[in-house]
Amino acid sequence: TKTPVIILGLGAMGQALAATFLKAGVPTTVWNRTPGKDAELLAAGAATAATVTEAIGADGPIIAVLLDHASVHATLDPVAARLAGRQLINLTSTAPGDARELAAWAAGHDCGYLDGGIMAVPPMIGRPGASILYSGSRTVFDTHRETLELLAAAEYFGEDAGFASTYDFALLATMYAMFGGFLHGAAMMRSVGVPAAEFGRRAAAWVGAMAQSLPHQGAVIDTAAYTDRVQSIAFHKAALDAINRASRDANVTLDFVAPLKNLLDRQVADGRGALGFERTFEELI
Ligand code: NDP
Repeated sequence: TKTPVIILGLGAMGQALAATFLKAGVPTTVWNRTPGKDAELLAAGAATAATVTEAIGADGPIIAVLLDHASVHATLDPVAARLAGRQLINLTSTAPGDARELAAWAAGHDCGYLDGGIMAVPPMIGRPGASILYSGSRTVFDTHRETLELLAAAEYFGEDAGFASTYDFALLATMYAMFGGFLHGAAMMRSVGVPAAEFGRRAAAWVGAMAQSLPHQGAVIDTAAYTDRVQSIAFHKAALDAINRASRDANVTLDFVAPLKNLLDRQVADGRGALGFERTFEELI
């Protein structure tokens, strides 16, 4: 028999997690603040709870998949006294400091706390390619690892509850730079009549190829080997200057490219133009 679970929050992600558990035969109790989001899950065999108290009356780890840090407290503060001896797995995206605060709060109520950062969109849950990064209580992770693996590849990073969230948002920062760059490029291409979908196909191939250099760039940063440059800051400054001019010609604002250009300009002005591009890392910390 499989360990049962309780899911608090039936937004897009909570529904995907619950559906995946049910498909795998995991007894699943679900609760959502606004009723009526559990119809499909009920049909798939979920037990539905009208209140949080009723939900956590069921057995198993309590998995929170709510909007944000505040909504986790709004949901669990009223039942805090009932959490003693329980295990809370928080898959809500929360900033590292908020995750640590929740871990301390849970510990104060004698409740185990594991934080998770979901690296997937809802349709990816339960499929290859999805991963969830965890940190916080090793006991909670070890106890429920098999259950958690049903959702996505599960990786544990130690007792600091804020670690998984830091990793999550660092990956998202990288992703958003790509998304923002794509929007900027698509705006440039509109000026010459190329549809964004067509540009997207070409950009996906280009970005995929360029992404292969990230581990090497990381090694350069880790060893501060900024003089073993392949391409210098001055080289990249020239490219950013050209992108600026091309963007202006296309009547596209510089909002997205300006921050990187500023970082490069600053280093050239400081006499560091001959160093490798990766030295820009040092400007950020
Ligand atoms: P949704 O916006 O679809 O759902 C939000 C959920 O939070 C709903 O169940 C909502 O309940 C509930 N909620 C909001 N405020 C409160 C509150 N004050 N008290 C109780 N419940 C509340 O979000 P998702 O399901 O997509 O995301 C859930 C979490 O998963 C987020 O932290 C998100 O960052 C994370 N995540 C989502 C991904 C995605 O692609 N969707 C990817 C990775 C992580 P109600 O129905 O009553 O409004």
